[in-house]
Amino acid sequence: EFNVEKIVAGDLLREEKAKGTKLGTEIARIMDKGELIPHKIICDLIKNKIKNKENYILDGFPRNLEQASLAKDIQIEKVIYIKIPDEIVLDRLNGRLTCKNCGGVFHLKYNKPKINGKCDNCGGELYIRADETKDAILQRIKIYKEQTMSLISYYKKMGILFEINGDRTIEVIYKDIRKLFK
Ligand code: AMP
Repeated sequence: EFNVEKIVAGDLLREEKAKGTKLGTEIARIMDKGELIPHKIICDLIKNKIKNKENYILDGFPRNLEQASLAKDIQIEKVIYIKIPDEIVLDRLNGRLTCKNCGGVFHLKYNKPKINGKCDNCGGELYIRADETKDAILQRIKIYKEQTMSLISYYKKMGILFEINGDRTIEVIYKDIRKLFK
């Protein structure tokens, strides 16, 4: 709707993983367990991607204070904190379907694709990510609490944090986020 590019840290890593290079294999080993990739690797991928771009949405980056500090030269205008209870995160990720082609997400129960196994946006093949097993999801939630949550007060102090209640429907959440970018 706003014609703004979405840059997803996890997608950049999944692209590297799919290439099957030595780096890709190392990324897969860490990622599939639900752990964080070394900061230098992800920061380089992100900085390379945003080079010469003015407007973009960053998803999944920075993931902790160290990355935020390494990324200080990236000008961040607004930070959206989607707040949601753990049990709902677990429920939404367990059963999530991701498009191999465009990264679009669907869900077996909550957001079914119109055609089984196919992405509504581009017709690409839908799959279940290797890190969307119960164990990997629980590990991702643990790391979120240990490392990512500290970014909430960090960006709050900077006056650029906007909290959105994520325990509602996709449409209502979208409307709320949209207001921030009018
Ligand atoms: P996501 O697609 O955001 O759910 O991320 C999936 C996985 O990619 C994470 O569990 C990490 O293994 C890795 N990852 C994504 N973003 C980052 C980041 N900023 N720093 C380190 N690892 C990341």
